[in-house]
Amino acid sequence: MLRIGGTALPVVGRARMYVCGITPYDTTHLGHAATFVWADVAGRVLRHLGVEVESCRNVTDVDDVLDAAAARAGERADSFAAVQQFRFDRDMAALGVRRPVHEPRAHNHVGQVVTLAAALLEGGHAYEREGTVFFRGAGTPERAGVPAEVARELAVEFGHLHDERADHPDDVPVWRAARPGEPAWPSPWGSGRPGWHAECAAMALTVLGASVDLHVGGEDLRFPHHAYESAMAEAVTGVRPFARSWMHVGTVRVGGEKMAKSAGNLVLVSDLLEGHPAAALRLLLVDRPWDRPWDFEHAALDTAAARLERLYAAAARGVGDGHSAAADAVSAALLADLDVPGALAVAEEAGGAAARLALSVLGLA
Ligand code: ZN
Repeated sequence: MLRIGGTALPVVGRARMYVCGITPYDTTHLGHAATFVWADVAGRVLRHLGVEVESCRNVTDVDDVLDAAAARAGERADSFAAVQQFRFDRDMAALGVRRPVHEPRAHNHVGQVVTLAAALLEGGHAYEREGTVFFRGAGTPERAGVPAEVARELAVEFGHLHDERADHPDDVPVWRAARPGEPAWPSPWGSGRPGWHAECAAMALTVLGASVDLHVGGEDLRFPHHAYESAMAEAVTGVRPFARSWMHVGTVRVGGEKMAKSAGNLVLVSDLLEGHPAAALRLLLVDRPWDRPWDFEHAALDTAAARLERLYAAAARGVGDGHSAAADAVSAALLADLDVPGALAVAEEAGGAAARLALSVLGLA
């Protein structure tokens, strides 16, 4: 049985995994790659247990930042997003990330967001003001373990400016009335567009049902995005918890700073792959605890490439060896909160079947 983030996750036969995907407005940077490679590792470890993984990774192609980036580039948002999506897929394929079984797009789920908003209204979990449907979110930060003042700061960082029309500062739009000139869709409350958290809630509910076994996303999505996505889903279905377990993947920093386009310190996957084997980059991303932030340094890629060579050499020893106690130790480490450093330490030392198992389950073979 897999234990993840302090949660035991027994699954029978099938695991539903929701991965909060990209907003296709920018080229894939190392921080995105870390999240999706770790989601891939979790899926592979579950499959190693004989579990069928029903994975779903959305594409947030209805979003203010996407519209703004497309406008700056002088392109339509949909064709701009298609090019970014192509680049993302290419980078993920290079890194050995399996394609998810389901890849829902926000623009195809606008109708489901309208359904979600209507159900929240009917259940008394939302109210309408001038074409905007607000979710009653009082207490959501506290339930997510975020102190109220920190919650306000994070919300502002994510562009949630307090709306005068909202009854409570924790209330967020499920559906937002259209502003002039932006893409909009019809709804019972007039022309408008989905709120971001509602998009993921609607896609997860549509594709995977009322709850998920494992929900993955970057640490920066813990609040407000995932807290509100869960709160909306739980309010509408009554099924708690919406996510049985969470993987909030640690932030990748550069020189102690979070990677951001505005800081000019983005490390792009495509640049790194020009000079280094993709497997070395994948190893660098996963040879650490998945939930901690870390600093990227170029020299670490050479160290990872050298370690990969040693692992390949170890795997070549004792060819013909079948099962071994060391292979069991590799499995046990991976099931204990995806302890990749622990699994690789055993693999490198024992070699043979243990090393081959580690490389294969981690997608490094
Ligand atoms: Zn999401």
